[in-house]
Amino acid sequence: MKFVSTRGVSVAQSAAHAIVKGLADDGGLFVPERFPSLKESLNDMLNMPYPKIASLVIHSFLEEYDYDEMLNECEKAYSLFDDGEPAPVVKLDDGLFVTELFHGPTLAFKDVALTFLSYLLRRGSDITGMKDKIMILVATSGDTGKAALEGFKDKEGISIMVFYPSEGVSDMQKLQMQTQEGKNVKVYGVKGNFDDCQNTVKEIFNSKSVCQSLKECNTVLSSANSMSFGRLVPQISYYFSSYCDLVNSGDIKMGDLVDFVVPTGNFGDILAGYYAKQMGLPVGRLVCASNCNNVLTEFFQSGTYDKNREFFKTNSPSMDILISSNLERLLFELSNRDAKLTAERMASLKATGKYSLTDLELKQAEKDFFGGYADEEECLETITNVFDDFGYVSDPHTAVALKVCFDYKEFSKTSNPTVVLSTASPYKFTQSVLKAVSGKTVKDPFVCAQKLLEETALPIPNQILSLKEKERRFTETISKEQAVDVVLQFAKEN
Ligand SMILES: *Cc1c(COP(=O)(O)O)cnc(C)c1O
Repeated sequence: MKFVSTRGVSVAQSAAHAIVKGLADDGGLFVPERFPSLKESLNDMLNMPYPKIASLVIHSFLEEYDYDEMLNECEKAYSLFDDGEPAPVVKLDDGLFVTELFHGPTLAFKDVALTFLSYLLRRGSDITGMKDKIMILVATSGDTGKAALEGFKDKEGISIMVFYPSEGVSDMQKLQMQTQEGKNVKVYGVKGNFDDCQNTVKEIFNSKSVCQSLKECNTVLSSANSMSFGRLVPQISYYFSSYCDLVNSGDIKMGDLVDFVVPTGNFGDILAGYYAKQMGLPVGRLVCASNCNNVLTEFFQSGTYDKNREFFKTNSPSMDILISSNLERLLFELSNRDAKLTAERMASLKATGKYSLTDLELKQAEKDFFGGYADEEECLETITNVFDDFGYVSDPHTAVALKVCFDYKEFSKTSNPTVVLSTASPYKFTQSVLKAVSGKTVKDPFVCAQKLLEETALPIPNQILSLKEKERRFTETISKEQAVDVVLQFAKEN
């Protein structure tokens, strides 16, 4: 299978090239030339363990990779999740299910892709004949940095450096990154906010002199952000596995339509669901759940994407995003793969902050998607209510999705069963969750976790408990100006 750019100028490329390059030369995102169909394999999947479903899904796009090796790597990656299950489905009520994607090494759904990405990159660079060492640079607002560090630690031929805003992440997130283990990792706090971090990393990527100096130590930069097809493709698998679980439990019959509700930021997770649907999975609607930064809600209701609006910092920080990069891949499909039009829309987004769909495209989008949002109060209320009604503890991101799920069911009168994707452990956002279920506030993150355990009986994950004992290896904070130096120094050391 070849890959093309959403902005179309580049020629079709091999899968390995798309994985290793991350972004197309024309600035567009790589998309598969067509969608492989797995409709005929659905019945077989009912009896497959997760790694087998995953390798089937991933290999249908990445045919140049060796299938047996890929299956082996999936087994390794997903053995890092509790009980070897990266996507267990929990039933809350008739027709209402939650797929929990947070049982991995860092307790966020990004683990599903990032435990596997190092293999895709490393083997991809072998296939393309690239001999250089890869240095992954990440600017993070919290979850991605830690998941990438865990995913790349001690991997041959790869090193990783993470920058986080020194005052912009939660205590638990900071501790998770500062205590990171591994020989090939480095973490710095950067004075400033997330945008400062992100811009610093972008400037390094775009700097010819930095890239030249790195080349002298046989090193190339790569990114682990969600625009990479390697981040997207492992996420398609859990839509298939969730569906199969519902058939196996007798909650649905093979062929029944299922709706999925997805807490959305950069539009990667929900786009993977759209891809699953294109591949023949019986998906009804994909419900896009946002917090107060509800630019996507407005987009699906009006057909106009407009990022000229106030930015809110919320309890669900991984969804605090005004430019959802992966939406570009959906625009490409909605326009019947019109790369010129997609490029024009992206140019318009850059110049004016907005663009619009045609009426026909909006109609098409409405068949597959519904957009809704929950504000801060509704999010916390939902954590409280869902705990009272179902005894289920949800983190703020999942609570946003649950609220939108209830709204959607009422609005659409649909009888389709609904799966809500749960993207983070409540213990990653302990303060907000404790407040919602008990009204209590506790400052120390570990005491807070203990209190949440007492209130809910939900076990504290080992990943949290063990943090207390770990050495804080990376406590240095640097200024933006120092970033280039630490990158070059790190390249020399590796
Ligand atoms: C990254 C993240 C999201 C948003 O996912 P996208 O693929 O960016 O839409 C939602 N919830 C949590 C906890 C996350 O870490």
